[in-house]
Amino acid sequence: MKGLLIVLSGPSGVGKGTVRQVLMKDASLDLCYSVSMTTRKPRIGEINGQDYFFVSKEEFLKHIENNDLLEHAQFVDNYYGTPKAYVEKLRNEGHNVLLEIETDGARQVMEKVKDDNKFISIFLLPPSFEDLESRIRGRKSEPEEVIQERLSKARNELNLQNLYMYQVVNKTPEQAALEIANIIKSSIK
Ligand code: 5GP
Repeated sequence: MKGLLIVLSGPSGVGKGTVRQVLMKDASLDLCYSVSMTTRKPRIGEINGQDYFFVSKEEFLKHIENNDLLEHAQFVDNYYGTPKAYVEKLRNEGHNVLLEIETDGARQVMEKVKDDNKFISIFLLPPSFEDLESRIRGRKSEPEEVIQERLSKARNELNLQNLYMYQVVNKTPEQAALEIANIIKSSIK
């Protein structure tokens, strides 16, 4: 039986990565994470092939041209995209596949899977906008203008939460992961 395709979105800094790490520990979900491709430079501690496939802009554009990507988007001057073949292979093997992507890409996926009844979309929300801003600033890895761009993008993304089938507030990563795990389990049944 084909695996579930799960799209998880939420504004930059909401804690999607941490929630995902908690979720991935739950073996009962048979969840595989789709590693995205990006032209962004790696942050300290990020590993190529594990966090992202870090590629040049030329390479990324070639993948778009070859139609290798399920979706792709530009986010704060960098490209991000989901390699299509890997997602399909895993789903055909019966695994559930998690995409952690921003809203432009999520909308492309929603368009493509209209007839796919094994698809769910989840939007992760911060407890408040102030909380989100302090998380984005807490990373200390980016200049003020990039932070401002991320905050403005976050406001726009929050306005799109109702396009998603489920909305989950990230009060703690454990609570949010548990809620998402329950959504996944009830969708598998
Ligand atoms: P970051 O630079 O913080 O790692 O990611 C920036 C945004 O890009 C996040 O919202 C993240 O979820 C999103 N993102 C990561 N991979 C992909 C992808 O393959 N496609 C799209 N559309 N967005 C992605």
